[in-house]
Amino acid sequence: MTFGGVVAVKDVSFSVAPGEIVGVIGPNGSGKSTLINVMTGFYRPTHGSVSLDGETLSGLSPEAIRRAGIARTFQNLRLVQEMSVRENAVAGLYLQITGGRSLTQRWLADMFATPAARRRAAAARDAAELALAQVGLQDKLDQTVSALSYADQKRLELARAIALRPKVLVLDEPTAGMSVDEADELIRMVTALVESDGEPMSLFLVEHRLELVLDVSHRAVVMDGGQVIADGLPDDVARDPHVRSIYVGGE
Ligand code: ADP
Ligand code: MG
Repeated sequence: MTFGGVVAVKDVSFSVAPGEIVGVIGPNGSGKSTLINVMTGFYRPTHGSVSLDGETLSGLSPEAIRRAGIARTFQNLRLVQEMSVRENAVAGLYLQITGGRSLTQRWLADMFATPAARRRAAAARDAAELALAQVGLQDKLDQTVSALSYADQKRLELARAIALRPKVLVLDEPTAGMSVDEADELIRMVTALVESDGEPMSLFLVEHRLELVLDVSHRAVVMDGGQVIADGLPDDVARDPHVRSIYVGGE
């Protein structure tokens, strides 16, 4: 992926198995968010491709990729501050459940509810509430987002992604700005959820806290300068000299 003359991600190749938890680490500017933007259709790769279950996804819109089964969160929150927790979670699902027309058109159609539209709305509300309970927000459904703590806003963003029941859940620094304890709790909650779910869900987790990532991941990928410099079992990656030179410094 290049921007003008800047090569942001170069010669990256990796795969994620069903149900696998892949932890991604690397210094600021190493290309982690760019990689996620390419995987989820926010950037179209300059070269190369992304596929899911053998279907090529690169070139599709973010919405089409989400519908194909890759859901994401953003490094910076993308919530509607003046809406409630429940409304934010339901709105995220609407994009998935009702294909085709624009969100506004669909929402208007459902306001003049036909029985099918009412069933769809009820299904979206149920799925949203289940996901909100899974992240621990069941007692805050009617609160306005702007009244939530920062940590709860991050949980809400996560619930929006989980509610889609994706094949691959892609999280870009979901604990940024959280306290150490909050971050630990959130990551352990997500990984437990991924591992307990009936349908296999893979997790692609960008997280800057090295020890936490290595602890919860099945596999670790390390990026530096837009390239993957290590990819393997967390214990092996932790011993890798290049990785140690980045994280421990100057070995
Ligand atoms: P990370 O998430 O690992 O911190 P990024 O993927 O955000 O790294 O950035 C990798 C490199 O790509 C950086 O040099 C950044 O400035 C550049 N980059 C990312 N997105 C853009 C963009 N939209 N336009 C220009 N440069 C970009
Ligand atoms: Mg980033």
